[in-house]
Amino acid sequence: MNVKTLLIIEDEAPIRDMINFALAPAGFKLILTGSVAEAERSLAKHIPDLILLDWMLPGTSGIDFAKKLKQNPKTREIPIIMLTAKAEEENKIKGLETGADDYITKPFSPRELTARIKAMLRRGPLVSPDGVIQINQLCIDVNTHQVTINNQLLELTPIEYKLLYFFATHQDRIYSREQLLDHVWGTENYIDERTVDVQVRRLRCRLQTHGYDHYIKTMRGTGYQFTVTNP
Ligand code: CA
Repeated sequence: MNVKTLLIIEDEAPIRDMINFALAPAGFKLILTGSVAEAERSLAKHIPDLILLDWMLPGTSGIDFAKKLKQNPKTREIPIIMLTAKAEEENKIKGLETGADDYITKPFSPRELTARIKAMLRRGPLVSPDGVIQINQLCIDVNTHQVTINNQLLELTPIEYKLLYFFATHQDRIYSREQLLDHVWGTENYIDERTVDVQVRRLRCRLQTHGYDHYIKTMRGTGYQFTVTNP
């Protein structure tokens, strides 16, 4: 079994110790750092399987660092779990938007931490080295923007592709219409939120031909979620 390496970035020594204590028995190899600068030195030598990143750090914040990691082709596929304090709860969504893949609120139990990390690692890398996202028989080629289901080409408009790509890379989380507008359409144009409903409906129609429309769920009063777990 290959040992998974986790890079921990947490400035508070007691929390770092707790993380070490919690995760070492699970068989992970831990690289413990106390700042972004230290973490960057480590990343230059070794790419970890997962990053556990504290939100509040002296100097560069966890948020800014997550953003930076997701913009760099060398590090963008590394899953990031953000550690947030209770008071920062309302900022969780912001954390996810800036690149964190999951978050854990302090104080957390060693068991919860281990479980969340294992769940994240099980998901595996989303985009394969040849640039393909595979979700069951749904294949998204991120280089050619070609989408196939069961090897059959799915004709999508550019906006439908962008929407599907966003959903596929942000699975299991609920996004409001406003958030989807920001991510998929961009913030520069004023577009009515109903546009989101229209485009989601169209995308669902395309997926329906192959029985994949149930991946996009409407969350009453909140927005949309892309998930493959529950039928
Ligand atoms: Ca901190």
